[in-house]
Amino acid sequence: MPGHNAFMLINGKPIYESSSKSQKPIINPATLETIGTLPEASDVEIQAALNAAGKSYQEWSNTSPARRGEMLHKAATEVRANVEAIARLLTLEQGKPLAEARGEVKAAAEALDYYAKEGQRVLGEILPTNKSDTRSLVIRQPLGVVAAFVPWNYPVSLAAWKIAPALAAGNTIIVKPASNTPLATCEFVRLLNSCLEPIGVINLLLGSGAKIGPALISSPVVQKITLTGSTETGKQIMSLAAPYLKKVSLELGGNCPIIVCRDADLEAAAQGTVYRSFRNMGQICNAINRVYVDRAVADTFLEKVLARVSKMTIGDGLRDPDVDLGPMATADGLEKTLAHLEDAVDKGATVVYGGKRPENAGPGYFFMPTVLTNVNHQMRVMTEETFGPLAPVMSFSDLDEAVALANDSPYGLVAYVYTSNLKTAFVLSERLQFGTVGINNVTGGEVAFPYGGWKESGLGVELSHHGLNEYLALKHIRITLL
Ligand code: NAD
Repeated sequence: MPGHNAFMLINGKPIYESSSKSQKPIINPATLETIGTLPEASDVEIQAALNAAGKSYQEWSNTSPARRGEMLHKAATEVRANVEAIARLLTLEQGKPLAEARGEVKAAAEALDYYAKEGQRVLGEILPTNKSDTRSLVIRQPLGVVAAFVPWNYPVSLAAWKIAPALAAGNTIIVKPASNTPLATCEFVRLLNSCLEPIGVINLLLGSGAKIGPALISSPVVQKITLTGSTETGKQIMSLAAPYLKKVSLELGGNCPIIVCRDADLEAAAQGTVYRSFRNMGQICNAINRVYVDRAVADTFLEKVLARVSKMTIGDGLRDPDVDLGPMATADGLEKTLAHLEDAVDKGATVVYGGKRPENAGPGYFFMPTVLTNVNHQMRVMTEETFGPLAPVMSFSDLDEAVALANDSPYGLVAYVYTSNLKTAFVLSERLQFGTVGINNVTGGEVAFPYGGWKESGLGVELSHHGLNEYLALKHIRITLL
């Protein structure tokens, strides 16, 4: 009998079985054991979640920002008190090592605390008008019910990046996590729900995005849709929302480049490259997918990268919490990684490290961190988001070529540059067509700063006070003094 059954949370009540009785297994990607089941929402649960979020909206939006902030702070405290339990579920279902899972849950608590405060700093404006007997106020108000779709790579923190600003701004929310990683989110949402009044402010639906997505998006109750997921799903959601002109925020795929200049600190660049290429098995939207290094320093840089990659440890992150890498989260993800690798090798790439399953790994979706050279832009590994542990390294001759290569992508999420030259740092950050540029670091996603993709990497931003504005509408109030 599986031990960890996922539940929906609707109007404050956990629901382990949908009225259709439809359910799916939840698999541990390290052992391939079934660890529990997930109930799939039918129309009954979807409608109940809409009713609950719709009904609680008036009271929640009328609650003072200070009181909402108190409740969100309390929720953050509860989450921190339960980091270990949530993190263990996260490792069990997603595969990331326990130490990283703990970090993810703490980041979710940090987002709750941040927006508990930021929600109390929603500013309006009083502007001079063109009439002496008239005054104009501009205020920001919540939108209504938010439908939030969340992926499996950072299920808890990415859910928090939506829940915290949406609730702090006075909206209510229905959250839909990915079907392979519901367990940690269930626990997280259960704790939040226990701290929030009235009942129904936060609701959780489980099941297929293809069913729940259209039902929520087309409902007149839902006024805002937010997705973190693939670019393909983002396009589907935008077209589903188009007939209703609903507000949409999309955090989508990346195909992130790093440019290592000849004047870079090569040790730091190698450390950043290895960390950001392979962390969470490359299953991060801001993972380095493409490495461009100045030809003059390419050999030295590659040596330093290989020295670091060869020391990485791989294993079941529940048994060994501090291992560097766990398994990939899904069979599909591993398959795509293998397809990108095969395509690259067929077209002439050289595997200089990895390229196979690690020895003595468990039965799960393990794969070695893999470094490729002799790559070009005819290969899928350079043009598509792999979302796996592949680091293809390509040389460039001058900075114009490096920028052209980095920008040669429909994606524009994050780019990284390593250089010790101030002018290069500024010029490249301005020329790179990406929502975030990291200079001599690979650590963009901090809660106080906007995070969003350019081009096909998204629409709108998350995090910071800019992220809060995605859940607020401007209103102009014009008063004539009769
Ligand atoms: P996905 O697009 O397959 O799924 C994301 C969520 O959307 C899931 O909950 C899924 O069930 C749901 N969904 C699917 N079809 C839907 C529909 N028609 N309507 C509504 N919801 C639907 O993505 P994934 O495979 O879970 O996650 C990996 C992707 O997410 C990668 O492309 C990655 O780059 C991206 N991502 C982006 C960011 C960012 O901040 N830009 C962060 C993390 C992940």
